[in-house]
Amino acid sequence: MIIRTRCKKCGVTIKLDFGGLTRDEALAVAEKMDRTPRECPGQHVELSGWNRMWDIPAAIHRAFDLGEGDEPTPVLSDRKYVERLMTEGKTIIDGGRNTVPELLLPAIHEYAGLIHMGFGNFRSETHLFLRMDSPKGSRFYERIALEDSKPVRIPA
Ligand SMILES: [Zn+2]
Repeated sequence: MIIRTRCKKCGVTIKLDFGGLTRDEALAVAEKMDRTPRECPGQHVELSGWNRMWDIPAAIHRAFDLGEGDEPTPVLSDRKYVERLMTEGKTIIDGGRNTVPELLLPAIHEYAGLIHMGFGNFRSETHLFLRMDSPKGSRFYERIALEDSKPVRIPA
């Protein structure tokens, strides 16, 4: 079951996939998640308090008791994700897990002297390396020459 809610801090829409869990199991997972540091897709990191910030118990109630949840859709494979980005003309760098070795992507650790810019984005003297996580959660980067780069949004 996928529940849908909204972050009270930044307003971003949150989807959480509880797979085949029951309502009570989902609540137990939420309880554990509540005490775990993680990053909101709205790009802020919190040490705890997700149940309240994301209103998770209410969203679980809506999904399981009121039937407003989504059934899981198959997650895009890393290969399909990267191939789609490449057809858009992007230069994609592997984040280190090498989940699509057949695409022969360069790896991020082959670039020396990268400077961390925050939220997983890096830059070198000549390029930006912008973090792009695949739907499966593997880390990739888009490499952009500095002279072509668009402004990077810096969250307040
Ligand atoms: Zn947020």
